[in-house]
Amino acid sequence: MQLPKQTHRFRSDLLRWYQAAHRPLPWRTEPSLYRTVVSEFMLQQTQIKTMLPYFERWMQLFPDFETLAHASAETVLKNWEGLGYYSRARNLHKLAQTFIRLPQAPQSPDEWQALPGIGPYTAAAIASIAQNFPAAVVDGNVVRVLARLSDHTQSFSSNGQAVKIFQEPAHALLDPHNPGDYNQAIMELGATLCQKSKPACASCPVQNHCRAYKKGAHYPATLPRIQRPIAQKIQVERGLILHQNALLLHRIPEDAPRLAGQYELPRLDLLQLPTPPAKPLAVKTRGIANQRIKENLHLLQIAPKQNLPPHHYWVDTDQLEQITLSGPHRKWLQQLLPSL
Ligand code: SF4
Repeated sequence: MQLPKQTHRFRSDLLRWYQAAHRPLPWRTEPSLYRTVVSEFMLQQTQIKTMLPYFERWMQLFPDFETLAHASAETVLKNWEGLGYYSRARNLHKLAQTFIRLPQAPQSPDEWQALPGIGPYTAAAIASIAQNFPAAVVDGNVVRVLARLSDHTQSFSSNGQAVKIFQEPAHALLDPHNPGDYNQAIMELGATLCQKSKPACASCPVQNHCRAYKKGAHYPATLPRIQRPIAQKIQVERGLILHQNALLLHRIPEDAPRLAGQYELPRLDLLQLPTPPAKPLAVKTRGIANQRIKENLHLLQIAPKQNLPPHHYWVDTDQLEQITLSGPHRKWLQQLLPSL
């Protein structure tokens, strides 16, 4: 892989740009180990603009490891509502409970990886940003920047494979004296200028070091070459089932791998109800990983059954704020309930 030859120059060009142009995110303007940990957990599957209000509110409610560790699991999950991928909230909670019992904070990425919910990327990010440990982070943004800098044309079978291949080059380019800022700078470059489809090469601080840039205006956007998995199409039929002021909801069992303990609109197949022939009240589509999910929401009026299937409950509509509803389901209900 042909990395920028003038490594020192590359680092200083990148860092100078970062010092002047980085976004003033709250974990940067007021840094602490705890704020770095929380921001890294929230950012694992959520974009910055979505997570920012959650981050601010989280810091008010749980300002440190101690407060978070002593909060109830229910309160923690309730305040994660809307961010999705709730295993992150559970792991962050467990991490805080483990952290406060440690004699000292973990001192290396390996030690961080021993804590709940922390993989190689998060460990390197926390250790470098909050503790100045010389560990390079490699995520999708870093892969994109490095593939373009080096004009790396190999095709990867997945993001995971690309991340593995770029670990070593990322370590070679890392500034060992300022690893936290360097890591944030290369990720910031990928997130703001070296974007997927239209890289802003004209404003790029490292264009002199970039092999893809030298091949013409449209070339950088062709890298990296990562095969996308074929999208899987899924259709789900759900019921919007009201009786007087109560709404029938499904509570996802505690031992479920995803969204455990959250409420959602019930699936007709779990209720053993046939799909009504009439058009659904609403059709919602969303994507999760490589799945394209179409959710048909049917307005049904059934009398409350004595024996509902397990994990199904009637919930007063004025109690919906108090329960943890899956994010998209809350949004759908906010849109649909007022007109019913
Ligand atoms: S010059 Fe363009 S392609 Fe190269 S790193 Fe900068 S933004 Fe990315």
